[in-house]
Amino acid sequence: MSDKMKLVIIGGVAGGASAAARARRLNEDAEIILIERGEFVSFANCGLPYHISGAIADRERLLVQTPDTLYANLRIDVRINTEAIQINRSSKQVIVKNKLTGEEQGLSYDKLILSPGAEPIIPTLPGVDNPRIHTLRSMSDMDKIIRLIKDNKPTNSLIIGGGYIGLEMAEALRELGIDVVLVELAPQVMASLDPEMAAPIHQQLKLNGVDLRLETSVTSFTEQDEYVGVNLSTGEKLDVGLVIMAIGVRPETKLAIGAGLALGERGGILVDDHMLTSDPDIYAVGDAVEVKDFVSGFAALVPLAGPANKQGRIAADNAMGRDSVYKKTQGTGICKIFDLTTGMTGNNEKTLKRINRNYEKIYIHPTCHASYYPGASQISLKVLFDPDDGKILGAQGVGLDGVDKRIDVMAAAIRAGLTVFDLEEMELSYAPPYGSAKDPVNYAGYTASNFIRGDVDICHTNDMLSPSDNQILLDVRTAEENMLGTIPGSINIPLQQLRDRIGELPSDKELLVFCQVGLRGYLACRILKQKGFKCRNLTGGYKTYTMATDALPQPPETITETTDANISMPASKETEPANIVKAIDACGLQCPGPILRIANEIKLIKDGEAIEISSNDSGFAQDISSWCNSTGNRLISLDTQNGIYKAVVQKGAAPAKQLDSADSKKKSIVVFSGDLDKAIASFIIANGAAAMGSEVTMFFTFWGINILRKPEPVKVKKNIIESIFGWMMPRGADDLELSNMNMLGIGSLIIKGIMKKKNVPSLPELIKTAQRSGVHLVVCSMSMDLMGIKKEELIDGVDLGGVAMYLDKAESGNVNLFI
Ligand code: FAD
Repeated sequence: MSDKMKLVIIGGVAGGASAAARARRLNEDAEIILIERGEFVSFANCGLPYHISGAIADRERLLVQTPDTLYANLRIDVRINTEAIQINRSSKQVIVKNKLTGEEQGLSYDKLILSPGAEPIIPTLPGVDNPRIHTLRSMSDMDKIIRLIKDNKPTNSLIIGGGYIGLEMAEALRELGIDVVLVELAPQVMASLDPEMAAPIHQQLKLNGVDLRLETSVTSFTEQDEYVGVNLSTGEKLDVGLVIMAIGVRPETKLAIGAGLALGERGGILVDDHMLTSDPDIYAVGDAVEVKDFVSGFAALVPLAGPANKQGRIAADNAMGRDSVYKKTQGTGICKIFDLTTGMTGNNEKTLKRINRNYEKIYIHPTCHASYYPGASQISLKVLFDPDDGKILGAQGVGLDGVDKRIDVMAAAIRAGLTVFDLEEMELSYAPPYGSAKDPVNYAGYTASNFIRGDVDICHTNDMLSPSDNQILLDVRTAEENMLGTIPGSINIPLQQLRDRIGELPSDKELLVFCQVGLRGYLACRILKQKGFKCRNLTGGYKTYTMATDALPQPPETITETTDANISMPASKETEPANIVKAIDACGLQCPGPILRIANEIKLIKDGEAIEISSNDSGFAQDISSWCNSTGNRLISLDTQNGIYKAVVQKGAAPAKQLDSADSKKKSIVVFSGDLDKAIASFIIANGAAAMGSEVTMFFTFWGINILRKPEPVKVKKNIIESIFGWMMPRGADDLELSNMNMLGIGSLIIKGIMKKKNVPSLPELIKTAQRSGVHLVVCSMSMDLMGIKKEELIDGVDLGGVAMYLDKAESGNVNLFI
């Protein structure tokens, strides 16, 4: 190839500008002409929504390069406002038209690179040419939207399409205080995710005041004075001041078709792995081309900036005589939706099903960094893999923080052809503010590898939704977690009680076990499997179940949002402002800590007064609605900012959920054991039940009485046997030992340390909470007598009672536990 070769590039943004710059670096003497029909080259189209929102304040920052800088730095001849209208392959000429003067000109080329991108799809609907309906692709599209917002000051808008651009625009418009209705034809937004992974995005949109209408489309538009009239497929009619059409893009292939270049099966320009089209002198890159999917090998259209840039570089390499190969596209993407981040790489489950690929999937919900370091929040990760050899096929993540890092590691793993066993071994950076010693990526590896190695069988939401007669759903979470919501038809045996109560389980049935996120379910399955039970663990636990069944709570009727600009959304119903008399910061407390806090505090205020509570526990939105529902308090508002939920709860202002009878709110617990772990479990359950509005009686008998002994010796009259007995038994909550692994007290010290780290209150604190919550502590007078314990030795606030009293409580309630 001669040094004087002439390279013409059509399209001056991601792929085109990248090709031009690379070509110059390889060939200092070549003549390089960059044709762009728009006013700008090399602008940051990915940044457009963020300038509309104001997050990128300076418009000039979007212009990564200008014609002048490209000439000054790279001697690239940039022709803006110039459209390529025809390619004459036989004469190797491009006909270009100056859009300002209308003048046409023929440009010869030795090599031609096409990077014309993809155009927004505009459906042929009646009234679609309304000036208030906009697409967003270029700087001038962005300018028009900003001008409309400035001039017309729309108070409401409609976004059509829940893909990247639709979601980013929803956030941008809400940031500006504009009401947003988002309609999406599919039952989920963000088609590159599987439906359950999109569920948190639906919740996030609603929490941020976006009126999301799934499985809804627009049938027509009508011209109104100051609005666009919009008719929806549901029969509803909206009047909105602005419409963003974001239903997808299609490859710009007009030039290629005119030139007789071959197209692929998906309608993109057909290229080989050198980005060469069906013409030996014409390359094509970016959104306009059809690529091979990295995982499946099938043809795909993947309109993303990363692939466009890489392909531009590779096309330039080849045009300049190098041998450079593009190794397929894996569709790694990421998107910010208010406080939430979602990312994905490789194939999703929908694709694997469609192409009939054998796969298995696991879900995990670990924290983004060490749970004890401030700001820890949950990430939900789904990993798809080959069940035979463990090869990773795809991953998706959603969460407030740390999703980008995990998806990028997974993307690198897929690119390197790694398996889930490799994920176990990955050595990733760790310090408490950034990760965990067992990073979520390692943890995903363990979970998937445990399945392949046969350590645990797994099941999925579908199994839980339709169990057969030979299956039992077993919830191994604590009673209080169970009370906040569970899978219909399941029975609850907390993991800590499983060994003692294993006899209650039928050995001839398969147990479908679940916990909150999958870990305790796995531990339960290990116990059950070794005891000869047939069982499977619900991967990702109840959290995944709620995502999959879209069982996340509907937000309350009135949601307020506070943005940095302090813009308030209008309340949708007339409500009086809440009389907030107390604010509780429950950030850092794990479930059910925030609920216990509000349950205690609400007792101290008057009916009609309200409490504001903040929590960064990801389950909080769900928990607070269920708690209000079942306790007769009213959730006035629930909003989120920077991952922190803020709820305002009004005392006693809503009717309590109808219960079968008043007695169904009564619970009784017999505490027989004096073991530390069992005592903690019983008080956690009691506090949870009290927080849910139940009347709770705890009946302490035999060794259980020791839990309520005062720690200091008390002078009372005892005979010798009673004194010896009293001296040998533990004196109070702090003196108890673990039922297992006590190791001369080391075990109980460890457990106390762990509880402290994890913000779980100590046993004495749990007892105080129970007393404050009105839990009735009753000590069996007969057992006291037998064991020689006197009333003076017990902590204050306990009553003495007999079996009759206990039986009366047990009979009138609907839960009676023996611990
Ligand atoms: P483009 O960058 O679109 O460039 C094509 C250019 O060719 C256009 O400027 C067009 O005017 C010009 N052109 C077309 N035909 C002709 C012709 N006949 N003559 C002259 N010029 C012509 N991707 C991500 O990976 N992450 C993101 O966060 C992200 N956000 C986005 C946000 C928005 C609002 C948009 C619009 C896109 C976003 N993308 C994102 C997608 C990404 O921008 C594209 O994948 C990428 O720009 C494609 O590069 P390209 O070179 O193929 O096309």
